[in-house]
Amino acid sequence: MKKIIAMAMVLVVLFSGFALVQAKQDQSKNDKKIDKEYKIHEENGIHDVPGHPNMKVKVFVHKAKGGKPGKPTPTPTKEPDVCELSDENSSSAFVGPMGTILPANWEYTLNLNSVPSSVGSENLKTIVERAFSVFSEDSGVNFTRTKNKTTLNRARYDGKNIIAWGATSAGALATTYTTYYVSSGEVVDVDTIMNNQYPWSWADQAEYSGCAYSDSYDAQNIMTHEFGHWLGLEDFYTEDFVNHTMYGYGAPGEVKKDTLTLGDIAGIKAIYPNVP
Ligand SMILES: [Zn+2]
Repeated sequence: MKKIIAMAMVLVVLFSGFALVQAKQDQSKNDKKIDKEYKIHEENGIHDVPGHPNMKVKVFVHKAKGGKPGKPTPTPTKEPDVCELSDENSSSAFVGPMGTILPANWEYTLNLNSVPSSVGSENLKTIVERAFSVFSEDSGVNFTRTKNKTTLNRARYDGKNIIAWGATSAGALATTYTTYYVSSGEVVDVDTIMNNQYPWSWADQAEYSGCAYSDSYDAQNIMTHEFGHWLGLEDFYTEDFVNHTMYGYGAPGEVKKDTLTLGDIAGIKAIYPNVP
């Protein structure tokens, strides 16, 4: 009898071990499937969300102007070496909305391990907070960082709203993926992946107002643009918009997207009209 019980126990242990391995394999298979589905969606435009016919995902690819990936730069030791005029915020060309809207309280999660050393993972919280802050007053949206960090660096519909450096389509500085309900436009998930194939830096504007590093892309500058998409703003590519945060191209040594133009603000106010 004892023998039978012992054998039964061994079988139970074996079986649960097998079930665990199987579950893990299923999970990773599922992850790969999700990655594959989203990978198809690396190009600009509106796409289906697998398994969710009531949702769509809009992909914004933010291109480098005429740029190919350069070599990621080492941690800058010099001071920012290029400065811009600060009077460009009067541009008033209207930045139209794309039809999505963020709920009033919105959480995001950072992948600190993915930050290039030339930006500094210890700076990411500040960079992201500052980039969100330019939208807070006019949209009324409260942005909160979750206590959990993430190691994800792929966009997917999982209820986490991640900001990470990772692989994204060639020629893109960053890509933002907004998943939303088709009927209401309400956003349910949004992720921004910064392309780790480009050289990045960050010039702290509290110290170096209007200045940046000429040989790399400023993280806050590009993130502010991406967060404009989180809030529902479109990309614009014509001459009227070159000074706007929502201008569709980014350039090295640029920090003018850190602050909104009158046209960007008008776009936010149109999406969030009930904010006093
Ligand atoms: Zn964009």
